[in-house]
Amino acid sequence: MDVIILGGGLMGCSAAYFLARRGIRTRLIERSAIGAAATVASFGNIRRTGRYLPQLPLAHRSLALWRDAERMLGRDVEFRATGHLRLIFDEHGHTDMRRYAAEARPWGLDIEELDATDLRRRFPGLGQDAIGASFSPEDGSANPRLVAPAFADAAARLGAEILPLTTVRSVCATKAGFAVVTSRGAFESAILLNCAGAWGAGIAAQFGEEVPLASYGPQMGVTEPLPQRILPVVGMWSREHGSYLRQVARGNIVFGGGVPRAAVAMEPGHASATPGRLAAQLRSVVQLLPALRDVTVIRQWSGCEGYIDDGLPVIGASGLQPGLFHAFGFCGHGFQLGPGVGDAMAELITTGRCETPLDPFHIARFAK
Ligand SMILES: Cc1cc2nc3c(=O)[nH]c(=O)nc-3n(C[C@H](O)[C@H](O)[C@H](O)COP(=O)(O)OP(=O)(O)OC[C@H]3O[C@@H](n4cnc5c(N)ncnc54)[C@H](O)[C@@H]3O)c2cc1C
Repeated sequence: MDVIILGGGLMGCSAAYFLARRGIRTRLIERSAIGAAATVASFGNIRRTGRYLPQLPLAHRSLALWRDAERMLGRDVEFRATGHLRLIFDEHGHTDMRRYAAEARPWGLDIEELDATDLRRRFPGLGQDAIGASFSPEDGSANPRLVAPAFADAAARLGAEILPLTTVRSVCATKAGFAVVTSRGAFESAILLNCAGAWGAGIAAQFGEEVPLASYGPQMGVTEPLPQRILPVVGMWSREHGSYLRQVARGNIVFGGGVPRAAVAMEPGHASATPGRLAAQLRSVVQLLPALRDVTVIRQWSGCEGYIDDGLPVIGASGLQPGLFHAFGFCGHGFQLGPGVGDAMAELITTGRCETPLDPFHIARFAK
């Protein structure tokens, strides 16, 4: 069996690694640089709290792989299980947190509830108006710049062929599988794996599968370096556009949220931050960490991500085309899932089954 993967973001690169580890001849085709689209723009949050409950088995599978990433990939991708703290500012937040914590427990996620006193004692300086928080101690973050290249290099060491900067001119089904014509020649394979992120719906549509996907860019920013004070990733329980932040090893505070995502034109797919929205964004971020009031923001950015109407990605076999598989449209929460998705796709492609339930994400949910 051989596999062509379209797209060299985190999903494509981790799938290439896990397929190569199973001895499958794998070729990954990326039109740009490895990991340079949504993946590199990510905030880097490895968060399970708040996820759609039937997605938790995949999130747990992924977390186990994040823990093993340094050994597996031969490189530190800066996964740190610092914990994920989510502050509560109002009664809605309280209600939502308690309901989610109770519902998530049978799915294997234990979230601690902190009252205002616990919060101030354990995490001084955060959220002076917060009335409580949830804490998920095993979650954390990793470096979005490092992880896709690390998976691609590890896949290449196992024999996968990684082709960055390669334009795909056409893709079609043949009697034996698929033919992909590119700027570096024509390739054939029995299996085609669509990991094209926000552009994945375009590839699915070529095979008759329409997915209601639109591309948006969450707005991100980073401050000057500050003394090291904040260990966990910090977010908020909010029914609107809650903000989030974390402090990286050099001391800078990376932040996002607080304002709606901006629409991005799918071609050329370059998302950019809107400086005029920074003030509104910081009003929300300062709620999390009041000390940020007097700090300089040194850079802003965004990234083009695919959002599907129901807020869930497409993962699994095509509903129409034998040999075609999809893993795209991660709706702003695919970074945590990346290693698990690659591993699950490799299992599904090689065995025809997957021990982690993927049915809720099947593309057939959009079939007319
Ligand atoms: C600003 C931002 C912050 C985020 N923060 C978080 C977070 O904190 N936690 C979290 O869990 N998730 C987060 N996400 C979401 C997460 O980053 C994405 O879900 C994840 O990186 C998606 O990976 P991917 O491989 O599917 O897509 P991408 O990284 O976009 O990769 C898709 C690749 O396919 C390539 N491609 C497209 N079409 C073709 C073609 N025809 N042929 C060849 N190649 C093609 C593209 O060039 C691209 O490199 C964030 C996303 C953004 C944008």
